[in-house]
Formats: sequence, structure tokens, C-alpha cells
Amino acid sequence: MTPSILIVEDNEDNIRLMDYLLRKAGHDPVLARSAAEGLSLAASARPDLILMDLQMPEMDGFDTLRAIRAESELREVPVVAVTALAMVGDRDRVLGAGFDGYLPKPIEPERFTEEIEGYLRAAGAAGERGGAT
Ligand code: MN
Repeated sequence: MTPSILIVEDNEDNIRLMDYLLRKAGHDPVLARSAAEGLSLAASARPDLILMDLQMPEMDGFDTLRAIRAESELREVPVVAVTALAMVGDRDRVLGAGFDGYLPKPIEPERFTEEIEGYLRAAGAAGERGGAT
């Protein structure tokens, strides 16, 4: 079964680029253009991986991650920050907040696709470990 990916991002150009790259790699991502829409779709689509913009109006990626982690069914889903934050220490701040990873903007197509596959493999491996005796 193809894993499902949810993109939560308010910038249309970034949405289009990520959607294009993921489709090219054989995925069929679910798109949310706000934190509220992302929370709603995370609950209904139960994605295997969530890509989260950090800078969004109304509710940023950090608050959205907290809301996701507060849902028991979504506590385990990997959430990767996709962000233009590029200052020293930002990576630590993102990982310290509980994100499972960090992808920098601007998005580099080859690196983006490779890293997404890595996160999906890690998510699958974790699932298998959990089910093994
Ligand atoms: Mn944004």
C-alpha cells in the first residue's frame, strides 16, 4: 500500500512544488493550506507522514504539532518541519519541539524526494518493530 502524506503549508508555490515532486515519486499527497485544515485532514486521512510548514498565519507549525500530538490516534505519526528558518540553533529548536525531522526551504528537488523516502522507510520500520515479537 502506498503510504499517505499530508502537506500543511500556506504558500501556494511551495504546495505546488511539493505536490509535484511527491506525485512524480508515485505519491498522492493530501494538501492542507492552513493549520486548521491540516488538523482536520490529519484526523480524517490518518497520514503516514506529515510535512509541516512552521510559519503560517493564525496557528504556526509548533502549535499545530502540539495539537496533533494531543490526539491519541496521531501521537505516533512522524511530523517533519519544512521551513526557511536557517539560523544557527533553529534545527535544534525544531527537533527539541518534537518534530521528527527538518527539511530546509528553498526545497531542493532531489534532496527533498530522497529525504521523504527516508522518513517513510523509518516510519515503516518503526511500525514493523512495534508489531514484531
Ligand atoms: Mn508559511
